[in-house]
Amino acid sequence: MKNKKEAVVVFSGGQDSTTCLLWAMKEYEKVYAVSFDYNQRHILELQCAKEICDYFKVEHVVLDMSLLNQLASNSLTRRDIEVDKDAPDEGTPNSFVEGRNMVFLTFVAIYAKTKGITDIITGVSQSDFSGYPDCRDVFIKSLNTTLNLAMDYDFDIITPLMWIDKEETWEMADKLGGYDVIRDMTLTCYNGIKGDGCGDCPSCKLRKKGLDAYLSRR
Ligand code: ZN
Repeated sequence: MKNKKEAVVVFSGGQDSTTCLLWAMKEYEKVYAVSFDYNQRHILELQCAKEICDYFKVEHVVLDMSLLNQLASNSLTRRDIEVDKDAPDEGTPNSFVEGRNMVFLTFVAIYAKTKGITDIITGVSQSDFSGYPDCRDVFIKSLNTTLNLAMDYDFDIITPLMWIDKEETWEMADKLGGYDVIRDMTLTCYNGIKGDGCGDCPSCKLRKKGLDAYLSRR
């Protein structure tokens, strides 16, 4: 018996959101996965998201958010901007898309409310936030309050990964029976290579470091 009825997962097809999808499928009777098309450099990201949803028979919704690219193009949306290999000493890395999580969560909230759903799940993490301000707990809590006031509704933004790092995220996925799916079907690489990725970009390095640490004690 599942604890709760319905939830919407913010879903990119990457390691973190797929782990959240696994978590949500265990907790809820019905799960919707929402992805965004913002002309991201790697359209493969949306294909991976679709494949994973098909695999789990989860209803997948893709919302057009091309506006975001028009406003705030960066290294994840523009082919002619190289992704920084390492994090900068200060400020946000050039893979940061200004306002992305706020915009995504706001649209997911509107979608959820039209379906009478309060629970929204997102894979942001303060432990591995890579300098992205909109992955921090204080921002999520603030936005949750704002959305409730904006729509006079009791949203609950749930962040299962907020206080865990990549190593523990691998462990969580494994315990939920999704190790192989995460390893083979997700896309986190900034260079658009599925599974273990290019091995060289900041995202691959973070993912591999967590995986190696987890496998050494698995
Ligand atoms: Zn990579």
